[in-house]
Amino acid sequence: MPNGKPAGIRCVQLGPDNRCLLFGKPEKPKVCSNLIPSKEMCGQTFGEAYEYLEFLERYTTPTS
Ligand code: SF4
Repeated sequence: MPNGKPAGIRCVQLGPDNRCLLFGKPEKPKVCSNLIPSKEMCGQTFGEAYEYLEFLERYTTPTS
């Protein structure tokens, strides 16, 4: 996504099984490679992970 991934929009590199298609590849964005997942972030289910991601995108995305 050349202009970055807008909040609330699914990444084009996210496969149908919710795995990153660029995992392990040099073209994976640096911001993604530098992310260190935590138990709080991932939760126990996809639903919990999405809920946390939505929270981050809603409350930590710059508005300007
Ligand atoms: S890790 Fe980055 S590139 Fe991969 S699917 Fe997630 S947002 Fe997209």
